[in-house]
Amino acid sequence: MKILSSMEEMGHEQVVHCYDPATQLRAIIAIHNTTLGPSLGGCRFWDYASEDEAIFDVLRLSRGMTYKSAVAGLPLGGGKAVLLGDVKRLKTPQLLQAFGRFVNRLGGAYITAEDVNMCVEDMSEVGKETSYVTGKARDQGGSGDPSPYTALGIYHGIRAAVQHRLGKSSLSGLHVAIQGCGAVGRNLAGLLHAQGVQLTVCDIVAANAQKMADQYGARIVPVEKSHALAVDVLSPCALGGSLSSRTIPEIQAPIVAGGANNQLLDEKTDGKALQEKGILWAPDFVINAGGIINVYHELEGYNEEKVRKAVMGIEQTLTELFLQAEKEHCTTLQASMRRGDAILQQARAKKA
Ligand code: NAD
Repeated sequence: MKILSSMEEMGHEQVVHCYDPATQLRAIIAIHNTTLGPSLGGCRFWDYASEDEAIFDVLRLSRGMTYKSAVAGLPLGGGKAVLLGDVKRLKTPQLLQAFGRFVNRLGGAYITAEDVNMCVEDMSEVGKETSYVTGKARDQGGSGDPSPYTALGIYHGIRAAVQHRLGKSSLSGLHVAIQGCGAVGRNLAGLLHAQGVQLTVCDIVAANAQKMADQYGARIVPVEKSHALAVDVLSPCALGGSLSSRTIPEIQAPIVAGGANNQLLDEKTDGKALQEKGILWAPDFVINAGGIINVYHELEGYNEEKVRKAVMGIEQTLTELFLQAEKEHCTTLQASMRRGDAILQQARAKKA
């Protein structure tokens, strides 16, 4: 992969490769854009098939963070980190501290947080070497696990989509299929269940799906069939790339709204394909902003009531973007990116 060419194409400012021989830490930190403020985004521990795959992931994820914070109205830029390798074998306090030292060297241009395979306790280890870390435990002055807030935002995003596409103000009696029963998926299942929503779930780890069946009476389906169910809402809450030229033709749900980052495998074509099929897609970086809103308030002085209010605002933001997409005859992705670009342009003009 030609990294500089990719940075130029996607608009990245800085990409840093980190290696620590003592702990076998191999990490990449990508800073996409700092126009609105320091770049903030989680660090993901994943056993990528290749370095190119890791670079592609961190470049897309960090750019997504720029738009996520901009559209959520936060004074933050976009960044992200990936730690490469087998998390079970490699993740030690020493490796997390080594990562913290690399984050610290960037002098605050990148602030980290948790993402897939990283938790609140891991952020405390990272925090032993840098203050540029969020998502630490509440008893350490942090905002704790962001996933309940991410789920709350998705819940409100689903409400906006159901109102817009189905004309219903209540979710009661609807059927939602959740792909991925991890931190976000299980919190979302709890919120939906409390509103009388029927749930179908899947997960590559059978025990995670089983918990949802036990707790909420969810039906379990195989992962390969989960996108093609006759449900009201399909909610991707696992990893990215679940919406593709293979899956979109088989989707029966009129709404796709979930928390996974980078849901479109090919963002040049898949957003359009969803629109042409009459499916209302809630852009991932808009609907899943609850987590970043939560960690941002950690920097400000944490106030849970303020956080909940801001996260619930995702319902209004998405409603506006759905209407804008209709008015401008564009996809919901295009409408959301246009809003993000306009916010960035305004900030640049103010600085000039
Ligand atoms: P997690 O690791 O807790 O859960 C992911 C779950 O998905 C796991 O149970 C895993 O077994 C399952 N899974 C993996 N691949 C799957 C597949 N192909 N099909 C079905 N299930 C599969 O992660 P999380 O924190 O719940 O995050 C889920 C998604 O939401 C990720 O894309 C993440 O980037 C995004 N996200 C999370 C937050 C947050 O606050 N945690 C915020 C914004 C976005």
